[in-house]
Amino acid sequence: KTMAKFDIAIIGAGPAGAVAAKFLHDAGLSVIVLEATHFPRFVIGESLLPFCMNVLEKCGLAQTVVDHAPSAAFQFKNGAAFARGDQHCSIDFRDRFENDGWGTTFQVKRDAFDKILIDAVAKAGVDVRFGHRVINARLADGDCQLEFENDTGEHGTIHAGFVIDASGYGRVIPKLLGQANAATLLPRRALYTHVRDNITDTTYDREKILITVHPTRHDVWYWLIPFADGTSSLGVVYPQDALATDQQTDDTALFDRLIGETGLGPLLNRAEKTRPMGTIGGYSVSSDQLYGDGYVLLGNSAGFLDPVFSSGVTIAMYSAELAAKTLINRHHGHDPDWENSFAAPLGAGIATFKSYVEAWYDGRLQQIIFNQPERDLQLKRMVVSILAGYAWNMDNPLVAKTDRYLNLLHELCL
Ligand code: FAD
Repeated sequence: KTMAKFDIAIIGAGPAGAVAAKFLHDAGLSVIVLEATHFPRFVIGESLLPFCMNVLEKCGLAQTVVDHAPSAAFQFKNGAAFARGDQHCSIDFRDRFENDGWGTTFQVKRDAFDKILIDAVAKAGVDVRFGHRVINARLADGDCQLEFENDTGEHGTIHAGFVIDASGYGRVIPKLLGQANAATLLPRRALYTHVRDNITDTTYDREKILITVHPTRHDVWYWLIPFADGTSSLGVVYPQDALATDQQTDDTALFDRLIGETGLGPLLNRAEKTRPMGTIGGYSVSSDQLYGDGYVLLGNSAGFLDPVFSSGVTIAMYSAELAAKTLINRHHGHDPDWENSFAAPLGAGIATFKSYVEAWYDGRLQQIIFNQPERDLQLKRMVVSILAGYAWNMDNPLVAKTDRYLNLLHELCL
């Protein structure tokens, strides 16, 4: 069966798809969202950054998140804590370079969070179809067709002027177009679960993500992301090749051993796992073509760097804002310049995060974090800004010249 023509068809109802849909719908474009699964559905990526709250506010979804926070057990988040052996550092996102914008955010179970967002989008009037998996696309600006298969095996076609691919790890359009996805960083793997954490340590701060580094293997690190209901997300990230030499095949045993080798062992000694172990690898990829005739790629469909600074959802939402603005301008008769209104500005902030990630793994950033150059408060604020997701603010010298300043800070710490 063939369905009506929409201005925009969006593949995927995660944060990128939901935010893009809301911006576009509010600007008067007709939008349909096709989502393969039924929400709530699990996805990894539970610690948000304050910057993404600004995007949610601009498209009218921030209040929805705030209102649902108590019932959905979203954990108020104001910063990040880092631990490596007996070294500790705690940063508060509110101590950042900018004076305006959000300085706090939430840690969220993504099944609840993503559902709350897309339900609000549907309530606003967007046509959202769950159980609709996009299986083929014919793309040409002004005349696109998406073929889908629904839950009952029925096939259909959506006609739309333009297609937004927000399919996350599905990477629908890059795969259909046979686009190569270049690995951006060394291949790493993550093992993760949820726990009822039963943490009794009164010095433990639930309002911060805790990033722990293995005491001797500084390229192995862990996240502990508490939620407001006494549960936490717990994960470990390690180089894909390195631990294979351990001949360790059982993920659960590897996970438990790695946790036990850090301060997380005693902190979580009463923890009980509440979901099966998950694993994901090969996630650090990027598309060399972020837009083309009749389509644009958002969020993880365009690429993903690394989980260490929790930048994924923030990048996904900001990519949605930039793409939506470009499409809204086009709707008002302005020729779109995808390079200068989307790819280049988005890429600038991603490059900032990438420099941070590289400096994390080569040791410079860990050196900076664990030997805080407290003496220069302004420099510290510049660092904190990026950790809070303000990676696109060119007024911050650490954004404009990330590598140069990271090297300078590193020298200050030696
Ligand atoms: P998604 O949230 O993945 O949504 C895509 C949607 O598209 C899905 O619902 C999917 O079902 C749907 N879809 C897929 N294929 C099709 C199809 N053919 N047809 C229709 N629908 C389809 N990010 C953070 O911000 N904070 C973190 O703490 C964090 N931790 C992470 C830890 C790890 C180990 C990894 C690998 C990533 C982490 N991330 C984190 C990144 C985060 O997972 C993603 O960046 C984020 O989910 C991207 O959102 P999205 O909207 O692009 O895609």
